[in-house]
Amino acid sequence: MNDANIGSVVVDEQELQQRISELGKEITSDYQAHPPLLVGVLKGAFMFMSDLARAIDLPVEFDFMAVSSYGSATRTSGVVRIMKDLDLDLTDRHVLVVEDIVDSGLTLAYLRKNLKARGTASIEVCALLVKEGLQKVDPDLRYVGFRIPPTFVIGYGLDVAEEYRNLPYIAEYAGPLAP
Ligand code: 5GP
Repeated sequence: MNDANIGSVVVDEQELQQRISELGKEITSDYQAHPPLLVGVLKGAFMFMSDLARAIDLPVEFDFMAVSSYGSATRTSGVVRIMKDLDLDLTDRHVLVVEDIVDSGLTLAYLRKNLKARGTASIEVCALLVKEGLQKVDPDLRYVGFRIPPTFVIGYGLDVAEEYRNLPYIAEYAGPLAP
């Protein structure tokens, strides 16, 4: 895509797919005894969830929830609102939360608490990207795709005002940031 707002590539398509295949193998081995219920966090994780699920050789189930953080487009405040809740009951389920990116970790901390209160058997997190050094709380991530520098990134599910989600790689956002 020829767009001046797409900055340098942070993780290219081949690296993404290679790592996702490794994560899938790890998850397959860890969850042999009890296949997980994958909980995708919309919208950012939809592409990762789709590729990751195909890399897991187990009968997984899927559900999705949509959350929105109050605050500016490029910064979260830690106040999270559930825009779409899960369809499935989580009682006694082994839940694997699939997240696009962990920045402050506040969204995830909220989600973990909220899901745990529903009586899950276990909750683990698989995050594609983690920004180095920015976490305000310990995000306790079982699976991590890539640790990246703390810049704002787009692509592979991640957007700016709903654009750039369909880039097959992760790039720095080089356009104007919200105030
Ligand atoms: P946290 O609560 O960890 O600070 O923020 C997590 C959420 O903020 C992510 O799920 C994502 O929606 C959004 N976010 C954080 N960093 C970025 C980024 O670099 N690019 C994009 N597009 N969204 C981000």
